[in-house]
Amino acid sequence: MKKTAVVIGCTGCDSCRWACPAEAISFDHAGAHVDPEKCVGCGTCVDECASEAIHIKDRTEGDGNEERCIEKR
Ligand code: SF4
Ligand code: SF4
Repeated sequence: MKKTAVVIGCTGCDSCRWACPAEAISFDHAGAHVDPEKCVGCGTCVDECASEAIHIKDRTEGDGNEERCIEKR
């Protein structure tokens, strides 16, 4: 099953974006957002996030199982 990163409780520190080898992380007004189509599930961003806001989850293809930061920057 494909793995993808989901973001919950981001503080907007921006560290994960530069750590991601797949350039899967972007930011908008709601904070960090992982593109599940680009994410390869490597877990690098999990190690990078001091707030433990990123988690690796199983993702069924096409189920839309992605989450966004819930805290505003
Ligand atoms: S997900 Fe974590 S590393 Fe990425 S911006 Fe938010 S707090 Fe920082
Ligand atoms: S798990 Fe890897 S590919 Fe996916 S967002 Fe995190 S660093 Fe990028």
